[in-house]
Amino acid sequence: MYERSRAEMVEKYVIEQGVEDPRIIKAMLKIPRHEFVDQALAHQAYKGKSLPIAGGQTISHPTTVAWMTDLLELGGEERILEIGTGSGYQAAVLAEIGVKVFSIERLPELARRTQTLLERLGYYSVGIKIGDGTVGWNAHAPYDRIIVTAASPGVPENLFNQLKESGRMIIPVGEKSQQKLLIITKENNQVHILGDYNRSFVPLIGKEGWTL
Ligand code: SAM
Repeated sequence: MYERSRAEMVEKYVIEQGVEDPRIIKAMLKIPRHEFVDQALAHQAYKGKSLPIAGGQTISHPTTVAWMTDLLELGGEERILEIGTGSGYQAAVLAEIGVKVFSIERLPELARRTQTLLERLGYYSVGIKIGDGTVGWNAHAPYDRIIVTAASPGVPENLFNQLKESGRMIIPVGEKSQQKLLIITKENNQVHILGDYNRSFVPLIGKEGWTL
C-alpha cells in the first residue's frame, strides 16, 4: 500500500535534498509512514510535511528525519539514545539501519501507543521508556550517538555525560520558536560543535529543558 507515494516522497524529500546514504533511502522506501499517523491523515503521510500526532505533538518532516539520521554518521552497530519518541518513525528508520535504539518519551499515552505500533511492525530493537529524556537513560549509558528530536534551551548535562568519548549528539538548541540544530562531539570530555543549521522543533519539556 502507498508504495508509489512513498517512492515519490523519498525522491523529492530525501534524495533531492542531498541525502545519499542507501541505507536511509532503503529504510524510508520500506517503512509504512502512514501507519505512524492517525488514519484520517494517512493520505497526507507521504507529503513533505510534519503532521500532528497524539498529545499535540508532531511526526517530523521526512527531510528532517533523513537529514538527522545522516548527520549521525552511523556505522550500523551503534547504540543510540533518542529523546522524543513521538510517533516512532525516526526510531524505525534507525532500527532499519541495524542500530540498537533506546528512546524516551515524556507522554505516557503516546509512548504506549508507539510501543504497540513498533512491536506490530516488528521493530523489536527499539526500547521505549516513559519519562523526562533530559536526564537521559543511565542504565544503558554510554551511548555512541544521541539524537534529540525536540528543541532544548541548552545541551543537557546528563545527556552529555551519557555520550561516549568521541560520540556524536544531534540536538536543536535555542529559543522556543527558533533553534539551531547542533552537531556535537565529545573530545576530552568537552563539547565540540562541528556544525549548526537553522531549524524549528517542538519544545523539549523537562528538568534540563523548558518548563510547561
Ligand atoms: N522522533 C519523533 C518522530 O519520529 O515522530 C518526533 C518527535 S516530536 C518532534 C518531539 C517529541 O518529544 C514529542 O513526542 C514530545 O512529547 C517529546 N518530548 C518533549 N520533551 C521531552 C522530554 N523531556 N523527554 C522525552 N520526550 C520529550
